[in-house]
Amino acid sequence: MIDRDRLAANLEAIRLRIARAAVRGGRDPRSVTVVAVTKGIDRATVQLAYEFGLRTFAENRVQEAWHKFVSAPLPSDAELHLIGHLQTNKVRQAVRLFSMIHSVDRLRLVEALARRAEQEERRLPVLVQVNVAGEAQKHGCRPDEALALVRAVLAAPHLELRGLMTIGPLTSTADEIRQVFRRLRVLRDELQQQCGCSLPELSMGMSNDFEIAVEEGATMVRIGRALFGA
Ligand SMILES: *Cc1c(COP(=O)(O)O)cnc(C)c1O
Repeated sequence: MIDRDRLAANLEAIRLRIARAAVRGGRDPRSVTVVAVTKGIDRATVQLAYEFGLRTFAENRVQEAWHKFVSAPLPSDAELHLIGHLQTNKVRQAVRLFSMIHSVDRLRLVEALARRAEQEERRLPVLVQVNVAGEAQKHGCRPDEALALVRAVLAAPHLELRGLMTIGPLTSTADEIRQVFRRLRVLRDELQQQCGCSLPELSMGMSNDFEIAVEEGATMVRIGRALFGA
């Protein structure tokens, strides 16, 4: 378990790096939310992060999140997001547990989430996950499938479309990573035009590439290791 001082120092360093990247990108640092990725992190450490001011947390597996947070929910001013692949047989739990789903990547999932959100009588914010780099091992829709997904979410009254999400390519140069984030932003701009809708959120950037993501317009950076250690 990471100690207090180390966590505080990591968070301060991340905030500083975000602020500098925002300035380089001509953006307001306050437009970037740190999403603390707590997979593999114990509940007590999550609480410590909360005490240091973090309010947005994310898990990539429903089961782990369920065990960690159902018995010990986050304070009511904090949010828990799902950032990993969501199987349709976990949709019921996911709709109960999460404030936002970043990983909506297929029509069947849109339908399942829409139905369950209606049954739970809530409006669920979602992001459409796009596999911009076209890496075979990754989830996310193809860029040319995003329009159909966006339209399906917009047509579902119990879902609230907030934007797009992507995962940067893993083994690439900084320039290749930048191209991927830029393409997500351009795709967002095109989809807003085509649908006449607003897609304010861009969830992109992790520990190894969040500064590039901020320079390219990220509004949510998903950070695990840089915050909690490897
Ligand atoms: C684990 C994970 C992250 C955080 O990765 P780090 O490299 O630990 O910052 C971000 N996004 C997704 C989808 C993840 O699964």
